[in-house]
Amino acid sequence: MPVCNGALIRRTRCHLVALVFACVGILAFAAEAISGAKIETPYGESQIEMELHQVPDAPVYYVIGRPGVPGADNEGLSSNAGFVVTEKGVVVYDALGTPALGYRLLMKIREVTDKPVEIVVAGHYHADHVYGLQAFEEHTDATIWAQQAALQYLSSPGAERRLEQRREALFPWVDESTRLVAPDKTYTDRTVLDMGDTQIELLHIGPAHAPDDTIMIVHRYNVVFSGDLIFGGRLPFLGGENVDTRRWLDGLAYLQSLEPSPRFIIPGHGDADENPQASIRFTRNYIEFLRRQMGQAVDNLVPFAEAYGSTDWSDYEDVPTFDAANRGNAYEVYLGMEKELFD
Ligand SMILES: [Zn+2]
Repeated sequence: MPVCNGALIRRTRCHLVALVFACVGILAFAAEAISGAKIETPYGESQIEMELHQVPDAPVYYVIGRPGVPGADNEGLSSNAGFVVTEKGVVVYDALGTPALGYRLLMKIREVTDKPVEIVVAGHYHADHVYGLQAFEEHTDATIWAQQAALQYLSSPGAERRLEQRREALFPWVDESTRLVAPDKTYTDRTVLDMGDTQIELLHIGPAHAPDDTIMIVHRYNVVFSGDLIFGGRLPFLGGENVDTRRWLDGLAYLQSLEPSPRFIIPGHGDADENPQASIRFTRNYIEFLRRQMGQAVDNLVPFAEAYGSTDWSDYEDVPTFDAANRGNAYEVYLGMEKELFD
């Protein structure tokens, strides 16, 4: 019937038009995700898109890094960072992976407030979180805080090796003029920053992911910056020299025990979410699962490859970063459990 056919043709055309628009939209989005507008910084030009998010109903803001390892495609923007605007000024948590990115975070702060940046908390001294400190040191009067174990990292050969590696992998954003910035102040177990209307608690949870893991709790808004204890929606990264999964589980248990329970967690990597209990539980279950599986293998003297091959990974194999992280994580836990046997 003609009417029917006409309607069909119109509908088909409509679908085609919609499809074309959708495709253009996707392409535009992809281009945008890779490179935004060129932005001049004192540390060179930066093009990676950096979007500022706000925690609902709170003067707490954050940016989310890209998945994957720091490289030219993401300019080193692989970790998250954020800040809190208080009566006494701005408190920043983490500074991103290059001085240019640190500077761009500072520009984001300036879009929101002209209050001075009073404090920058370095959640743990890993390259992807602290190379941006240089921008805060050179362009603000902020005091940089870290847990005292950060000092050991700064004087370790590993820190120098990592900087060399990043000068190649992240050139020109990390170059000969990039340097590690030490904290101005350190604490041991816990400290509270009095920011007038907002009390900000820093708590040492390491060694878990790193010796100096600091979580930052903004009690007034019930928001937690968890650092790399949690990777939002991804498998956490258990590789590295100083990982301690026992302490890590203690840290997660502590987050679960907070009263009132956090309403918002900004993780070190991956998306922030409004269901923090689920994120904490997911990370905890994963680490417990690894410890159970690898622990049994160690107890029974089963070699790692065999233990890995016979483990049922179906609960985790669809999680982003499974292929990149899981085997290495399992191996780290296997070695760690061997070591624990002799502790
Ligand atoms: Zn990290």
